[in-house]
Amino acid sequence: MQSLPKKYNFSEIERKWQKIWKELGIYHFDWNDVTRPTFTINTPPPYPSGEFHMGNILNWVYFDIVARYKRMRGFNVLFPQGWDCHGLSVEIQVEKEQKIRKRDVAPDQFRRWCEQLIERYIALMKDSILKLGCSIDWATEYLTMDPDYWRRTQLSFILLHKKGFMYQGTHPVNWCPRCETAIADAEVDYEKRQGTLNYIRFPLEGTSEYLIIATSRPEFIPACVAVEVNPNDERFNKYIGKNIVVPIVNRTVKIIAEEAVDPTFGTGVVMICTYGDKEDVKTVMKHKLPVIRLLTENGRINENGGKYSGLTINQARRAIAEDLESKRLLEKVEKLSQEVGVCDRCKTHVEILEHKQWFMKTRALTNEVEKTANEVMWYPDYMKTRLIDWANSLDWDWVISRQRVFGTPIPVWYCKSCGELILAEEAWVPIDPKLENPRIDKCPKCSSREFVPERDVFDTWMDSSITCAVHAGWPDRENWKRLFPADMHPSGIDIIRTWAYYLMVRHLALFGETPYKSCLINGMVLGSDGRKMSKSLKNYVAAPEVINKYGSDATRQWAAGGGATGSDIPFRWPDVEYGRRFLVKLWNVSKFAIKLLEDYEPSEKVEFEFQPLDRWVLSKAEKVTKKVTEAMEKCQFNVAVEEIRNFTWHIFCDYYIEAVKDKLYNPETYGQAKKLAAQHTLYVVLYRVLQLIAPMTPHLTEEIYQVMYAENKGFKSLQISSWPLINPELENETAEKNGDLIMAIISGVRQDKAENKLPLNAPVKTLHIYSGSTEAADVINSVKEDIAGTLKIANVRIHPKKRSEGKQVSSYDVFFQVEY
Ligand SMILES: [Zn+2]
Ligand SMILES: [Zn+2]
Repeated sequence: MQSLPKKYNFSEIERKWQKIWKELGIYHFDWNDVTRPTFTINTPPPYPSGEFHMGNILNWVYFDIVARYKRMRGFNVLFPQGWDCHGLSVEIQVEKEQKIRKRDVAPDQFRRWCEQLIERYIALMKDSILKLGCSIDWATEYLTMDPDYWRRTQLSFILLHKKGFMYQGTHPVNWCPRCETAIADAEVDYEKRQGTLNYIRFPLEGTSEYLIIATSRPEFIPACVAVEVNPNDERFNKYIGKNIVVPIVNRTVKIIAEEAVDPTFGTGVVMICTYGDKEDVKTVMKHKLPVIRLLTENGRINENGGKYSGLTINQARRAIAEDLESKRLLEKVEKLSQEVGVCDRCKTHVEILEHKQWFMKTRALTNEVEKTANEVMWYPDYMKTRLIDWANSLDWDWVISRQRVFGTPIPVWYCKSCGELILAEEAWVPIDPKLENPRIDKCPKCSSREFVPERDVFDTWMDSSITCAVHAGWPDRENWKRLFPADMHPSGIDIIRTWAYYLMVRHLALFGETPYKSCLINGMVLGSDGRKMSKSLKNYVAAPEVINKYGSDATRQWAAGGGATGSDIPFRWPDVEYGRRFLVKLWNVSKFAIKLLEDYEPSEKVEFEFQPLDRWVLSKAEKVTKKVTEAMEKCQFNVAVEEIRNFTWHIFCDYYIEAVKDKLYNPETYGQAKKLAAQHTLYVVLYRVLQLIAPMTPHLTEEIYQVMYAENKGFKSLQISSWPLINPELENETAEKNGDLIMAIISGVRQDKAENKLPLNAPVKTLHIYSGSTEAADVINSVKEDIAGTLKIANVRIHPKKRSEGKQVSSYDVFFQVEY
């Protein structure tokens, strides 16, 4: 056996093994292997933001543990990695860096800047993933901004178009006036903001009476198309069907009956504008009201706003409020605290705008989504309701087009003369319709030869919502269905409503099948103050800082052991420090074991004379293996880590090794056979510990494995060794019961020494043991030498118990007295 260096230098060890693993290629998925079962992980392709944060660490550690565990269980594991490039935040970042707006420069130039930024960011994030030691198959790496990936996104669109899932429509959509693009419901965040509630007089036509309407958005008055009241509201139902004058613009609109109006909210009279909020959209559709578009795409008042045209929304709000005031139409103004929808990328107030967009018919799939989500295995189980509730809460279909530059082009043209839609053929993709004409001579409808390209691009979720099929090799590999659905879809709790949902609807629509068999959810990382970790809260810790300080293995233990799967996990430095201390313990015990095993030749053939303590620790090792295996199967990583750390630290190191080391140092007293049995036990139990914790702390365990076991076990890496099978023959309840009694005696005497302020290795003249049963006395008698050796006792005397003498051993009917 070789030896370990004196000091545990984590950064050296981690870098070394990361390099060797790469050279050995042990994380490559073997596409040609048809014998081993496969296991596929739908690794999230992250938005390259340049920063791999503690939340990412939690995420990646979870599924890296699964990948490593499954490999040890004999699976051919597909653990791919891609990058989801077309995020809106990249465009915003480029605009900031270049001090321009995307419309100011040629689209090509803007795209190039985005690509350059993405490449820089990917390099930074990849470095962190590598340092974390994730067992990714880098041969699978892909970028969604590469035309080869567009090909897949575009193909999926063409197929879904042919199946009738894609349509174009003019429909109100969420619109970010700063980013000048449509955004999906899932991209709308809600924030509390201070506003004002304005009580405005609306004169009733042909009378001197008026109704008062309370609104937080007076700037929408020019777009008022109706006024509604509840038909059961005695105060106002007499006005239903009458005309009312919209102030400022002096138009009349009808007063309509609408049961959805809450008479107790505001004044009970509501103006309908196109569009102040989503409720307006519903009412306009239901009552078939006209639409007055008031806003431009960059959030200014258009010509329909008359004298306010050209103002921003905020300027118009102030101007209109002033004009109402001077016309004595403003009754009063109250402060209002309200929840407003904001763009999740730039935090601008989201407006609702009618715009021609592409949609995917997602609501038609809601029942299917619910049924499938119930069939998927969720870790933890209760997370499935998040997906189901979200699917059921959606009012609109998914708007998949974006008025942006950096995105996958929508492969569509329109005939210039008749407007006919020309959908790209499957064989044409990847294609950018802005750069190429459709590959046909003339319009099939009117024979015109001129075409206009679709300028919109796809929502970035259109790229990332086909990954389960793409990872499996769709559409190029003939037998891609072998790897589909993915065995595991890992997801942060915050993107269940986006990624888990979009994956589900896209794959259900395309292939009629669930994209994933199971879903592993991780919670958010909290700062040390218990709030969600964020730079603005000053509780932020950067991942490279943690890895550089304590190493990957310690950081991984924090992630695995920090809390129950799916729950939010606090980041605390002492937890990482505890992880490091465990590694130092494992390192030291291995070094010590190497010394104790100097003359040991590993062999399975020998019949060993196992002693009660050997049987005790072997049985405990089986038990912990069973518990850890069960926890790993259920993705309860914190349970697994705790079980292994407790077993290693307390049962194996503090008791077993302490109790047998005298036997190994001084075999004359005990006999060679007993020594050999103890050596063998030490050798196999330490190997078991290394294997069980290898998925969590791959680097250190590999280092120890290579020094102590590789030659005998023959695996190139501990990572591809076989996960231990439970050996029921080694499970031994009696051995455990007897061992526990002996350990309780040892612990009692140690405590006695401590109470007498003596060091643990202080010699003892005689230890008197008084046993209440002959059975216990026999057990103690059989390991007298071990007890004596461990505690430096010259004489161990066992007596039958007559009366209560000395101190009780834990709760056993056994007492002891120490004579120093
Ligand atoms: Zn925005
Ligand atoms: Zn035509």
